[in-house]
Amino acid sequence: MDLTAIHIPSTVALALVAILGYLFGRRSRLVEQAREAEQARRELKRAKTVARELESISEQIRKSLATHHASIARFKDRVTELSGQQKEVAWQALCNEAEDMLKPTLRLAAQIAHAYDEIRQQTNHLMAFTELRTDSLTRVSNRRALDECLENMFSLMHRYEQSFSIAIFDIDHFKRVNDERGHVQGDHILQRVARIIDDNVRDTDVVARYGGEEFVVVMPHTPLEGAGIFSERLRGKIAAQLDITVSGGVAQAIKADTPQSLIARSDAALYGAKAAGRNRVYQHTQGDIEPVVANEVPVATP
Ligand code: GH3
Ligand code: MG
Ligand code: MG
Repeated sequence: MDLTAIHIPSTVALALVAILGYLFGRRSRLVEQAREAEQARRELKRAKTVARELESISEQIRKSLATHHASIARFKDRVTELSGQQKEVAWQALCNEAEDMLKPTLRLAAQIAHAYDEIRQQTNHLMAFTELRTDSLTRVSNRRALDECLENMFSLMHRYEQSFSIAIFDIDHFKRVNDERGHVQGDHILQRVARIIDDNVRDTDVVARYGGEEFVVVMPHTPLEGAGIFSERLRGKIAAQLDITVSGGVAQAIKADTPQSLIARSDAALYGAKAAGRNRVYQHTQGDIEPVVANEVPVATP
């Protein structure tokens, strides 16, 4: 009997490595983003517990396998010793030994099955965590994730003086799109807009569906000017790739802001863009609401 024929332990080990890697990756991202946030602390605690549980499962399996391996080796030695002999008593003893060996094997199988259940449960947990924060139609973050993200961003800003900007995009005349082409097509457009936004942001940015046909992009370490340039470029890409347009409103967080006031300021800028004719981006400069002007490529004079 070849122990390597049992592939489960290595699969379990690989699953453990992957899950632990995910947890610790998540841990460092969370630590970086939200040292002070209560939510992040709770998640860290949970991630550590999960990691500890998985480590202990893998250790149990490792010990059981070592014991099992040793008894199989002894069994093999006996068979080799007895081969060619016809001693009835010796064979009976060997059969009894084989039966005894089956018992730990069954226990081991049960242990492995249990380990799998545990891992599946914990994975489901992690998936549910992500699912709760994902918009089911567009697969970008949902409102709940956005609220948590903004809380974290404000904590970071107050503690480390790291400012950030946000942009709100709203599809122009979307009611008309729904009326004329139907809701299924409307939903499809929402998915495509989300995809274009998500494909164009930085890894550190967060894209969330804020309302029906509104999306928010949170841009860490980005001043108003940068956020304006990015938003204007994104607006242009959407207009070029789809047969709808979006308007955008941009604002940079200041110390006096709250998540609500920051959203309200970028919303005011968005309103400015709508009022000025749509398919454009406006910014809230605290004192004023003004258009973000696209960087024109200078035309060469003859
Ligand atoms: P504006 O240019 O001023 O933004 O015009 P609008 O028609 O987009 O304005 P409004 O915000 O009043 O309308 C939003 C519409 O978005 C209402 C609704 O028909 C549509 N909508 C909201 N959520 C969904 C959704 O999940 N799927 C679809 N297909 N349509 C949605
Ligand atoms: Mg709207
Ligand atoms: Mg709209």
